[in-house]
Amino acid sequence: MITLFADVVLPLALPKVYTYRIPLSLNDAAAKFCRVIVPVGKKKRYAGIIWNIHDKAPEGRDARYIEAILDDAPLLDENHARFWEWMATYYMCSLGEVMNAALPSGLKLSSETIILPVAPDSETDLNGLSDREFLILDALKQTGELNLEEVSKIVGIKTVFPIIQMLAEKNLITTDEELKFAFKPKTEQYLALHPDYTYEDALNALINSLKRAPKQQDCILAFLQDEQNPNINLEPKKRSELLKKNVSAAALSQLIKKDVFVLELRSISRLEASNADLALPVLSHTQTEALNEINKGIGLQKPVLLHGYTGSGKTELYIHLMHDAISAGKQVLYLLPEIALTAQIVRRLRAHFGSKAQTYHSKFSENERMEVWQAVERKNEEGSLVIGARSALFLPFQNLGLIIVDEEHDSSYKQSDPAPRYHARDAALMKAKLYECPIILGSATPSVESYYHAITSKYHLAGLYERFGGAILPEIIIADLKEATRKQRMKGVFSKLLLDEIETTHKQGKQSILFRNRRGFAPLLECNQCKWVPQCAQCDISLTYHKQAHQLKCHYCGYAIPVVSHCKDCNSGDIRMKGFGTERLEEELSSLLPSLSIGRMDLDTTRSKHGHYKIIEDFQEGRIEVLVGTQMVSKGLDFDHVKLAAVLNADTMLQYPDFRAFERSFQMLSQVCGRAGRRSEPGTALIQTWNPDHPVLGWVKNHDYQSFFAYESNERKTFDYPPFCRLIHIYIRHENQQMLDEGAELITSLLRTSFGKRILGPEYPPVGKVRNLFQKNIMIKLELTLSPSKAKARIEETIKHFQNEVTLKGFRIIVDVDPI
Ligand code: ADP
Ligand code: ZN
Ligand code: ZN
Repeated sequence: MITLFADVVLPLALPKVYTYRIPLSLNDAAAKFCRVIVPVGKKKRYAGIIWNIHDKAPEGRDARYIEAILDDAPLLDENHARFWEWMATYYMCSLGEVMNAALPSGLKLSSETIILPVAPDSETDLNGLSDREFLILDALKQTGELNLEEVSKIVGIKTVFPIIQMLAEKNLITTDEELKFAFKPKTEQYLALHPDYTYEDALNALINSLKRAPKQQDCILAFLQDEQNPNINLEPKKRSELLKKNVSAAALSQLIKKDVFVLELRSISRLEASNADLALPVLSHTQTEALNEINKGIGLQKPVLLHGYTGSGKTELYIHLMHDAISAGKQVLYLLPEIALTAQIVRRLRAHFGSKAQTYHSKFSENERMEVWQAVERKNEEGSLVIGARSALFLPFQNLGLIIVDEEHDSSYKQSDPAPRYHARDAALMKAKLYECPIILGSATPSVESYYHAITSKYHLAGLYERFGGAILPEIIIADLKEATRKQRMKGVFSKLLLDEIETTHKQGKQSILFRNRRGFAPLLECNQCKWVPQCAQCDISLTYHKQAHQLKCHYCGYAIPVVSHCKDCNSGDIRMKGFGTERLEEELSSLLPSLSIGRMDLDTTRSKHGHYKIIEDFQEGRIEVLVGTQMVSKGLDFDHVKLAAVLNADTMLQYPDFRAFERSFQMLSQVCGRAGRRSEPGTALIQTWNPDHPVLGWVKNHDYQSFFAYESNERKTFDYPPFCRLIHIYIRHENQQMLDEGAELITSLLRTSFGKRILGPEYPPVGKVRNLFQKNIMIKLELTLSPSKAKARIEETIKHFQNEVTLKGFRIIVDVDPI
């Protein structure tokens, strides 16, 4: 036998894979992409993934041994592994970091893998154990605890995970805190008639023998009878169902004790079941043309960009495409930027696809996530259509036939922290390439990058420039705050124009959405005498006043203090509020128009798992007339009775110091305005601003994407920004400002030797200190003609070089590829 080595990916930010020796006894069981337990450092153990097997011993050190192999089948297939590799290389992070993002914690075991016994409860059927399970329990009884290596020895098999998981599911063992079996199937108790009584004679004898125990007799009769079915039915039944038939629980228990009934635990699915009962929509002429265009793009094997107004029927087209893919036995991935959007879409898709449509995102419990994972892995019907946030990209699709990226322009597709700092749309494009499957990007306001690729033939463009059913786009009113202030037509933060619209809408029995991109009551308090402003102790930012909580809070780090009544500098009591957030908006509106029912949707009101769901439902069902909120209300939500959508202040967005400020503002404002009006009735959108002549407002008002794009792409070309170059940001952090300044200068000069004028900065970002760490940013602009992988390799070398500089300690350096 030859000595083999395995390169193992560990769920850590380690830059490379580590080589372990495979014990000879495990040679056969070790396979690529299986999980293994390996020692790390002096004490720790981790579950890693074998990435490669070879016979080359590492140089300069003895390889440590793999302790146990967890899986008997690989966790990833080759395609999926290539996808991980691409992500690590492209976004400049470790495979371990990709592993961390990719696996639900049900599959992530770590560290000291100690198995402990659990006292069996009365419901556990010890007779049903396999010999191996029994051996493990027996050993546990003697030793009190076992590690995986010991387990492997005791049972004489190499892949121990399935057996341990089985024991954990039966609740016979547990593990120390660090190795959790997060996944527990949901079980239901079933009762089966003991085989002895399945013959008619025996059954009759049994019933007769229970004459003096009428309650037990009732139990058996209830078991045998089925309302729908006049024949006797001997199939096992749910215990809970039987109890619903009014039988005595005590009698039932006695029958179990007497072995008349045998109790079984069956796993049942947590995945929501529902029936598909809606036929495919009949498409309009324009929609059919768009669908043909999409299919043409698919035929050309290009990604397709579907550009269509809100309400034009993009979702209906997706439904057609998904239907085709699913009917052909393929799996479909439908990505959404925001969890808040899923509930509405899921309801709509369930009507067509029933329980084939499942959701997958981080607000789900681990158990629910594991079930979706398994359904997808096993190609179950229930995994045919997964609607998910970005982490759904990592599901183990076997047979991917279509990817849809809805609202592709949305910046929440980018994971900004921690690594991998990936953009889910771009990762989806790569995934589609690897899996050779069609991909559709859809939006009413495509990103400049995607639209550019579409008109330069890298993507195929399909347009849908007509709202369905003759619905017209909302009229957009620009309210000039300068003029309104001059003419004294302001009430608090509301122009008279806006208040009138809200009232009119209310009188018509319709609903309004008010958008303000700031939560809390007031963004800052200020001393009117000396201009002192309460600041966060850990960040370079003023504290936001939250009235209900009676606190001043930092929105960057969560730091909070009680509200101050006096200036800390001059002790004056003349403290004023500046600016306004959603909380103040809600309060002012309710005092101006007391008869309105107002709801608020922002981070503060939606923290709980179902927080946003409840608010959306209240709004949907008319219990809320005016919905006030942050960007959560701007995205993709469809309500039938919203007549008015308003933006309280467009200016902060437009003036944000970022090359994407115009694009973001155009998208945000258009999206908010798109919430107004539905098929039957046109809506109104109103934007309050101090700069009514701003060009972005003109394009929004005229629903003029093309002019926006023409202007913006010209600017990007002139000033050299994406899509005309590639951007990489380097963030450098240190707790000492002077050290940071020096370090930032040094690394910048090192980078300049490779990249020359392509380097910009270092510069402080708008908030230069967060959580006591100072930060400076360096921007690298790479020409499209330059090889990105070579450039990245040089950046990596430079950073390594910098970090090896002994005089420099305590720096944190983060690389962000394609920053957003
Ligand atoms: P988008 O996704 O582009 O915003 P939707 O697909 O949500 O547009 O369509 C807007 C509304 O019009 C929805 O209520 C949808 O059900 C309806 N609709 C669109 N196309 C059709 C169609 N062909 N038949 C019936 N209803 C349609
Ligand atoms: Zn003061
Ligand atoms: Zn802070």
